[in-house]
Formats: sequence, structure tokens, C-alpha cells
Amino acid sequence: MSYYSPSIEKLIESFEKLPSIGNKTAARLAFYILNASEEETNEFIESIQNAKKNLKYCSKCYNITDTDPCPICSNKARDQSVICVVEDVRDVVAMERTHEFKGLYHVLHGSISPMNGIGPDDLKIKELLSRLMGGTVKEVILATNPRVEGEATAMYLSKLIKPLGVKVTRIAHGIPVGGDLEYTDEVTLSRALEGRVQL
Ligand SMILES: [Zn+2]
Repeated sequence: MSYYSPSIEKLIESFEKLPSIGNKTAARLAFYILNASEEETNEFIESIQNAKKNLKYCSKCYNITDTDPCPICSNKARDQSVICVVEDVRDVVAMERTHEFKGLYHVLHGSISPMNGIGPDDLKIKELLSRLMGGTVKEVILATNPRVEGEATAMYLSKLIKPLGVKVTRIAHGIPVGGDLEYTDEVTLSRALEGRVQL
């Protein structure tokens, strides 16, 4: 049984749905909101609504963006001949934090995982291949996570890309097997980028 009033209970439930928020944290957040000023609460609601309304996928790299193409794709100073392929939009942020990579990105939105029913057609693979057709791209760096699914995806992609005459490399050293790109520190990630190997 609940000791809270129904509206508080509902608010706690909403917070509990967020990733890595347990019941205690959800209750803490709910009470924080209850004690916040109306102005602060409205700002919070608006920022959620605006993010949902304005954010879209970049039509080139499929990163999340306010403007299409995204700031990275529209930056002419970036090396248009290299594309770094990642699984998730958060991996783009992780790579950008290293300040090592000056090329473009392509976000797959997942990795091939037959166990979870995710096949190549569920990922932005066709879109990647069509970007390689223009002849501008000379190298594709496969920066999928060093887990079984990420490795399988990298292998699959390298088989598709190599016949197109584009150099395919894979980030290698530094990232622990079973690790997550998003949680890898900048030094490890930039070393992994430097030590990439041709596939
Ligand atoms: Zn983009």
C-alpha cells in the first residue's frame, strides 16, 4: 500500500520509468519538484517539450540535432573523406570529447543482434553505403562497441564496404572487451582511435 497521495504517487512512478532511477531516487526527485518554484517547474516542463519537438535526426549522419544537416555535417572544416561509424548518438559525444577526430560520423542506431531480433535492415546501413557512393569518402572507421554485437556489426560492415574501394579501419587498443564507448575515458578512447587497424 502507498503512504503517498495519488498525485505524488503518480509523479514518483513517472520518475521511476527513467533509466537507472530507483524508487528512493524517484521519490527524492518528486519531492524536489513539489518544492520547486512554479517558474522552475515550467522551465523544466518546457525543456522536455522543446527537446521532443525540435530534435530530429540529421538526414546525413543520423545524429540527433536541432538543425538538419547537423552542425558536424555542415562544418566544412571537418575532413569529409573520413566517416566514423558508431552505434549510438551518445558515442558521437564520447568521440567528440577526445578532440582527436576531425572527420564526419554515421550513427547506426544499434548493432546487429540476432538474439534481440535486430538485423542489418533495422540499422542505418543502407544510408551509410549510399554516403560512400559519391567517391568523397576514403576511409571508414568502425567504432562500434567492442562487444559481440559490435564486433559482428563491424565485420558485416567491412565485408560490404571493402568492395567499394574504401579503406576500412577498426578502433582497437585501449577499450576493454565488453566495454561501452560511452563510458570510456577520453585518453583510452583517443588511444583506441590512434591504434585503429585496417580490416
Ligand atoms: Zn549530421
